[in-house]
Amino acid sequence: MNKIQMVTPLVEMDGDEMTRILWQMIKDQLITPFVDLKTEYYDLGLLHRNETKDQVTVDAANATKRLGVAVKCATITPNKQRMVEYPQLTEMWKSPNGTIRSILDGTVFRAPILIDCIHPVVKNWKLPITIARHAYGDVYKSVDMYTTEPGECTMTFKGASGEEKTLLVQKVDGPAVWQGAHNKEKSIRSFARACFQYAIDTRQDLWFSTKDTIAKIYDGEFKKVFEEEFENYKAKFEELGITYFYTLIDDAVARVIRSKGGFIWACKNYDGDVMSDMVSTAFGSLAMMTSVLVAPDGTTEYEAAHGTVTKHYYKHLKGEATSTNPMATIFAWTGALRKRGQLDGIDELVTFAGQLEEACFETLSAGIMTKDLVGLVDEGFEATAVTSAEFIAAIRTRLEAKR
Ligand code: NAP
Ligand code: MG
Repeated sequence: MNKIQMVTPLVEMDGDEMTRILWQMIKDQLITPFVDLKTEYYDLGLLHRNETKDQVTVDAANATKRLGVAVKCATITPNKQRMVEYPQLTEMWKSPNGTIRSILDGTVFRAPILIDCIHPVVKNWKLPITIARHAYGDVYKSVDMYTTEPGECTMTFKGASGEEKTLLVQKVDGPAVWQGAHNKEKSIRSFARACFQYAIDTRQDLWFSTKDTIAKIYDGEFKKVFEEEFENYKAKFEELGITYFYTLIDDAVARVIRSKGGFIWACKNYDGDVMSDMVSTAFGSLAMMTSVLVAPDGTTEYEAAHGTVTKHYYKHLKGEATSTNPMATIFAWTGALRKRGQLDGIDELVTFAGQLEEACFETLSAGIMTKDLVGLVDEGFEATAVTSAEFIAAIRTRLEAKR
C-alpha cells in the first residue's frame, strides 16, 4: 500500500503523562501506517520545557505561525504540588496553552464529538454547539481589594500624553470589595475576526452575547467591534447562507437550551469559561471535547480539551492497562491533517482524516468503547469497556478496511 505523501510538515507538540502514551499509540497504529507523516517535532513534555527554560514552547508557537497548522498533546501546567513531584523544576513554568495563545493571538473554539448512542442531556440538541471563548482580560487580568472603613473609590486613567480621566466608582459607608478590570480594543477585534473566520470555515451561524444593557461602555465596545468587523465578512456570510446574530447573554442562554445546536456561541472570557463547562457536561464527556485555537490570520492549533489524565497515568506506571479515551486526541490529529491537506491541496489527506473519524464512529457504534463512555450510553444500547490499546486496535481494523 502506498502511503499518503505530505508536502508541508505539521507542527507536532508532544506532551505529558497518559496523553503522551496515547499520542504515541495513535501515531504508531492509526497514522504512520497510512501517511508518510511529516512533522516538525517539539517536545513540550514538562521536563523538556524545564531543560529549555520553556524556550521550546515559544519555538513551537513560532513554528506554528510559520507553518500554519499544529497538533498539540495535553501538557502539565505546573502548580505547587507538581514542584514537589518534579524536584528538578527550576521554575513554576507558565501554562503552555497560555504562552501559545498569546503568541498566536488566538481564540479557542471547543466542540463536542457527538455519537448516536449517547444523547445530550438537553434532548433537542441534535448538532454540536461550539463555544468560542475570548481568552484575554476582564476578570482574569483584574485587580481587586477589600477595604474596611467608610470612604470612596475612584478610578483614574493616566494617558501617555499626560491627560487624566477620573471616575467615582462608589461611595461606601462600611467595609467593601472592589475590582478593576480592562480589555484592549485590539484583542476584542482579533477575537471578533477569529470568530467570523471560524464561522466561515465551518459554515455555521455565529451568535455573540454580552450584557451591554448594563455595561454600556465595556460590553458595548465588544458589541460595536463585532458589528464593525462583521462588515468585512458580510458578503461571505451571505454567500454561504450563514448568519451573525447578537443578543443579550440571558436571552442567549434561553435560546441555546431551546435550540437544536449547530452554531458557534462566542462568549466573553468569563462567560466562555462557565458556559463551556455547562455545554460540555450536557453533551456528555470532557473526553469527547475537541479544542482548536484559531489566530486571526487563520493559523490553527488542534488539541483535546481534557488534561493529561494523571490518575490513569499512575495506573499505567504500575503496569495496569488503562481505559483512557483517545477520541479527542485522535480528532486533534484528524483536524490537523485535514487542515494541512486543504491548505496544500492534498485530497487524499483530507479523505484519510474523514476515514479515520468514520472508523472511530463505527467502533463506538459497535459498542466497543472506553470505560468513561460505557456509563453514558442510552438505555438498551450494549457496550463493552475495552482498554485504550484494544479500542485503538478496533479502530485500526475498521480503518484498514477503508484503505
Ligand atoms: P484531566 O487530565 O482532564 O482529568 C480529569 C479526570 O477526567 C480524569 O481523572 C478522568 O476521570 C477524566 N478524564 C479526562 N480525560 C479523560 C479521557 N481522555 N479518558 C477518560 N477519562 C478522562 O484533568 P486534571 O486531572 O485536572 O489535570 C491533569 C493535568 O492536566 C494537570 O497537570 C493540568 O495542568 C493538565 N491540563 C492540561 C490541559 C491541556 O494541556 N490542554 C488542560 C487541562 C489540564 P477518572 O479519573 O474518573 O477516570
Ligand atoms: Mg474553567
